[in-house]
Formats: sequence, C-alpha cells, structure tokens
Amino acid sequence: MKDEDLEMFMRETVKVIQYMGNDVMKLQMMFYNLLDDMGKMDRIICPSCNEEVIRPILPNIPLEDVCPSCGEDLFDKNQMSIDDWDNAKIEEE
Ligand SMILES: [Zn+2]
Repeated sequence: MKDEDLEMFMRETVKVIQYMGNDVMKLQMMFYNLLDDMGKMDRIICPSCNEEVIRPILPNIPLEDVCPSCGEDLFDKNQMSIDDWDNAKIEEE
C-alpha cells in the first residue's frame, strides 16, 4: 500500500466514523423522544445546579443518581437516611 493510499484510507475512515457519530446522536435523540412520549423519562431538577436532568426509565438499567452537569448527587442521601431512621423508630413503638 502506497503512502497516498494509506492517507486516503485514513481520511475515508475518519469520515465514516464521523457519519456514524452523527447517526448515533440522531438515534439517541429519537430514542429519548420516544421514551419521553411513552412517559418513560424521569425529569429531575438537580438540587445543586438547578439543571434539568433527564433519565430514561428502563428495566435492568440502573439510573445514575449523579448530575451530569455538576457531578453532585441528585438526591439528598442524608435526608433519605434520616427518613429511614424515623420510619424504623415509628415501627418500634
Ligand atoms: Zn447539578
């Protein structure tokens, strides 16, 4: 293979990868829109940065509890544990 041919091949490969990337973006958007339409999207406002976080609700796929914008927890874990403790206490009585 000549250097020029290799260069050509590399250029074509990069082009194909870019096209594939665009298609994946399109597919993801279609998929998310479809899920949203079916009511399978969970919308949460991040308590740390107030960005809206959209999460697909799908079986067997664990939901990320971390905000993709600021990296903070979407849920106040401390508050949850206090609630659990309160509930446990009420059950004891
Ligand atoms: Zn955030």
